[in-house]
Amino acid sequence: MNYQSSLSFAIEQDRNDPLKDFRKRFLIPQHKGEEVIYLCGNSLGLQPVSAQQHIADQLNNWESLAVEGWFQGNDPWLNYHKQLSASVSKIVGALENEVTVMNSLTVNLHLLMVSFYKPNSKRFKIIMEGGAFPSDQYAMESQVRFHGFDPKEAIVEIFPREGELTLRTEDIILKINEHANELALVMFAGINYYTGQFFDLEPITLAGHEAGAYVGFDLAHTAGNVPLKLHDWGADFACWCSYKYMNSGPGGISGIFVHEKHFENKELDRFAGWWGYREDKRFLMAPGFDAAQGADGWQVSTSPILLMALFKASMAIFDKAGGIDALRAKSIALTGYMEFLINDINQQQGEELFKIITPANPQERGCQLSVVCKKNAKAIFKYLADNGVIGDWREPDVIRLSPVPLYNTFTDVYKAVQYLATAV
Ligand SMILES: *Cc1c(COP(=O)(O)O)cnc(C)c1O
Repeated sequence: MNYQSSLSFAIEQDRNDPLKDFRKRFLIPQHKGEEVIYLCGNSLGLQPVSAQQHIADQLNNWESLAVEGWFQGNDPWLNYHKQLSASVSKIVGALENEVTVMNSLTVNLHLLMVSFYKPNSKRFKIIMEGGAFPSDQYAMESQVRFHGFDPKEAIVEIFPREGELTLRTEDIILKINEHANELALVMFAGINYYTGQFFDLEPITLAGHEAGAYVGFDLAHTAGNVPLKLHDWGADFACWCSYKYMNSGPGGISGIFVHEKHFENKELDRFAGWWGYREDKRFLMAPGFDAAQGADGWQVSTSPILLMALFKASMAIFDKAGGIDALRAKSIALTGYMEFLINDINQQQGEELFKIITPANPQERGCQLSVVCKKNAKAIFKYLADNGVIGDWREPDVIRLSPVPLYNTFTDVYKAVQYLATAV
């Protein structure tokens, strides 16, 4: 696309945007009487207008049906989670029974590690990207300790080459090969939260499997952001939260993927609970765990229906918009526009005041750009906030800005970067 740095260009793009009507389906916070420029969907997606009704419906079911709500009404709670599987499976590129929604993200990461991290004295290492989201680092560390190993020995982190900001796929594969004989698990983010780099998950999966390890992904910044093909790539497992790009509200429900090749594997341990028991016999309350088919068999506890209702409100919008592929086309254009405008400031100023550390290739990133402010970083971030531009701050000098195709506009992007330029 031939971008131009002008408000009229941005307005024209918005006018021609096939997704332009979707912004109305979200509640945009106000700042000094005007809608904020919200570029923080990587942290907490906006509230769908329909969220209140979805919650009210379930409160009404609870009021009128009480315990019968599990089996009666137009939305029986017993199978409520199954209404979400079709939409979610499309977002992550899975079969419908390879996904389920349950718990929260780090909890699910631990539960999946129970199945897929089975270290022994020969194979005990975990390879992950250096600078992974802290919760993932803590989860890996504590899992390694739980099994009696030393995190310093067992966790292998991969960092960019000297002078580079992001990882090369070839280096990831080399590292996997180097540790192949001792490798139990490759555990990567889909998109790194700090740099915004979207890793090449298919070759990583292949390399992990060739090394004889399991391969799992944390898709917190990835699901609902970029299209995925977990099933075709053959990943063993994945988990994600839905409150970032999938707009399910603070602390919203998480989701998991388990590849169907593992469904019949009785060797896999799991920490079981009654909600993962086969449905036709769950209420016989018999001793001896007998797992439900598919990812549902990893469920543990009674479905949190109110959280699921919020997620359902959001998934209906994704479906209406034509799914993740339609969103991705706009996302590439929006983020590309922001990149163009930021680079334009540098050009105008004759020096690189803002350095984008996210890869320039659209195939290697999602919505987010991580921008290093070379001068007065904190003051610039404050200036943005004072003018109603909501991004987020990461120490020591990075501002993350994520235009989201469902509710952000080219005009949002144009105005936000204008504030960056005037902040200088
Ligand atoms: C946001 C995020 C989390 C948060 O986990 P919760 O259990 O939902 O608090 C974990 N891991 C990654 C990679 C994230 O981006």
